[in-house]
Amino acid sequence: MTFWLKSCPKCGGDLEAVDALLETYVRCVQCGLELTQVQEKVLRRGSRVHVAVPVPAPAVTHEGRHQPAA
Ligand SMILES: [Zn+2]
Repeated sequence: MTFWLKSCPKCGGDLEAVDALLETYVRCVQCGLELTQVQEKVLRRGSRVHVAVPVPAPAVTHEGRHQPAA
């Protein structure tokens, strides 16, 4: 599980990567906000989504999405 502390653009809470069936998405633990794919991309790149709080580098980075074999 990947976390980005204090990175929620809405409430400044902690974001977590959630494993769904087809892909993972990122949501806020505190307010439940789900990031858009664009915001998630920025986040995973190690940049800030919106707030002026430094985001610690995630322990595991996933560059791009793995497409399921068609
Ligand atoms: Zn939030």
